[in-house]
Amino acid sequence: MAAGKGNWYADDISKVIVSEEQIREKTAELAKQVAADYADVDGLLLVGVLKGAVMFMADFARSLDHPVELEFMAISSYGTRATSSGVVRILKDLDRDISGKHVLVIEDIVDSGLTLSWLLKYLTSRGPASLEVVALLRKPDAVKVDIPVKYLGFDIPNEFVVGYGLDYAERYRELPYVGLLRPEVYER
Ligand code: 5GP
Ligand code: MG
Ligand code: MG
Repeated sequence: MAAGKGNWYADDISKVIVSEEQIREKTAELAKQVAADYADVDGLLLVGVLKGAVMFMADFARSLDHPVELEFMAISSYGTRATSSGVVRILKDLDRDISGKHVLVIEDIVDSGLTLSWLLKYLTSRGPASLEVVALLRKPDAVKVDIPVKYLGFDIPNEFVVGYGLDYAERYRELPYVGLLRPEVYER
């Protein structure tokens, strides 16, 4: 039904939540804001959270009219897909010192906010000159946690989405849009 990738995922995605075009427009808009806010800043560093933020980070960095350096972290939250525990394990740490850098965390989605909350504390302890968050998606539960997402793409309904970096069992990341997965897929 949903377009893209030939017919590979045609039966799996029930609805497009954020289209390719919406993502493109919003990314350009966020990049414009960031470029203006950081116009006078040297040493802007994007920290992408693997693997979900890869697509967004790549597009955001290319939209951004400002020089940047790229870093990645991989972290894993204990807990099931549905409940993030806030207990986080570092799978891949930063490769170098971020002290004195202006850091922008690039996230795919903020749900409970627990992962991001942990990450912000961790990065703060590394002494950046400044620290802000760019997140493509945010779910309703996130408002309960006091997470300052300065640059936000879209507030979406409280449903499990895939695509544009987001996976279910490591699949669907390469979809160019964000879509709803049919419940039958979990039950397979
Ligand atoms: P939080 O700690 O904010 O609850 O969880 C954030 C992480 O949970 C995201 O980085 C993402 O990996 C995963 N997550 C939360 N909601 C969704 C969703 O709707 N779809 C997918 N694929 N992952 C999600
Ligand atoms: Mg993430
Ligand atoms: Mg995942």
